[in-house]
Amino acid sequence: MPDTTEKRVLLAAPRGYCAGVDRAVIAVEKALELHGSPIYVRKEIVHNKYVVETLSERGAIFVNETDEVPEGARVVFSAHGVSPAVRQAADDRNLLSIDATCPLVTKVHKEAVRFAREDQTILLIGHEGHEEVEGTAGEAPEHTIIVNSPEEADTVEVPDPDNVVWLSQTTLSVDETMDTVKRLRARFPKLQDPPSDDICYATQNRQVAVKKLAPECDLVIVVGSANSSNSVRLVEVALEYGARTSYRVDRATEIDEAWFEGVSTVGVTSGASVPEILVRDVLDLLAGRGFDTVEEVRTATEDLMFSLPREIRADLKEKQAENAMRA
Ligand code: SF4
Repeated sequence: MPDTTEKRVLLAAPRGYCAGVDRAVIAVEKALELHGSPIYVRKEIVHNKYVVETLSERGAIFVNETDEVPEGARVVFSAHGVSPAVRQAADDRNLLSIDATCPLVTKVHKEAVRFAREDQTILLIGHEGHEEVEGTAGEAPEHTIIVNSPEEADTVEVPDPDNVVWLSQTTLSVDETMDTVKRLRARFPKLQDPPSDDICYATQNRQVAVKKLAPECDLVIVVGSANSSNSVRLVEVALEYGARTSYRVDRATEIDEAWFEGVSTVGVTSGASVPEILVRDVLDLLAGRGFDTVEEVRTATEDLMFSLPREIRADLKEKQAENAMRA
């Protein structure tokens, strides 16, 4: 019997690349164009397998720490940011550092420095071991306590309960973070809020779009890598807001045919570090399975752009001047 179920795709918007990821990836591409290979990159420039593989093919070398970079070579710091100790280690090896830290992460670093200067205890809501959390905590290690989950808010101890402020990783679940803050405030009524949202616009917008489409979906496919915090959060948000099932895939080839059993509406979105080509591959695969009606579910329009890291801007300016001299 032919399958007559009406099949459709709800495509979340916004999805995919945010301004910080775009800037970081272009920074590595420009560094390769300007200086040639190798360009070293400390950690994954953004948490996406495809992006890292593509840049590796073009001559970027990904390392875990600056001591793996030859003295005097160029190194790019990833969008997730680094602690002052990492900057110092790079300077000690005379590395030519290019800082691709997302400006919205830098904003949180500055908040941490300011609150530490005021001798406050910073309750940093985020995932221990995540590069961004290591970088932010590294700005004020003696003043920072990491709170990994709402449950930890019930047990965390601080030296002075009247002198506490919370900050957060930029890529968390908005709802879960608010729950953590509520629980912290129940124990520390004088808990101070950050001056503005630490969870960034891109994380928030992608979650809002998924919240809108999830109730109508039998299945939500999130394109993104396993170590991408905001991508993993999108699966959780989809399930929480009514999707019957939700899976994260790096690429279309990871989609399991069994997921389509009894499914008529598939939601599709992607994390902030995911190039659109990977979403297109998923849509092509879905079209091949009869899901060829695609409706966009848009909840916001994004036009934010960040200027390139100042080291790249300076090198580009120098190159332009050289070219003008030759002309
Ligand atoms: Fe910046 Fe947010 Fe993108 Fe992270 S997810 S790079 S904080 S804009």
